[in-house]
Amino acid sequence: MAKSGMAGRYTIGDAARGDQVIEVTRRRCHRSTLFLAADLLQRMPMLRDIANIPFKCARCNDHDVHIRPRSLDDRDRNKAVVMRPVGTKTVAVWKEVKL
Ligand SMILES: [Zn+2]
Repeated sequence: MAKSGMAGRYTIGDAARGDQVIEVTRRRCHRSTLFLAADLLQRMPMLRDIANIPFKCARCNDHDVHIRPRSLDDRDRNKAVVMRPVGTKTVAVWKEVKL
């Protein structure tokens, strides 16, 4: 069996290796969202504990969330709706400078 450091610790890398999704459930509004662990791995350190993924609800600003890894079987996979990165926004930064 693989050793994984601290007891109970489960990292984004662990979830990505297991081809899992991460389910984030807001404690206040009870909405939940699925993310592919592999997508999160592109943006966060692989050793980050999944419990420490920063998240804020777009509707109620709640960041008190319950996070758990899930393995989807084929049936789940066919109907799952997941949040995925679909593009990036470039924002102009303005500053006064000498001509
Ligand atoms: Zn919410």
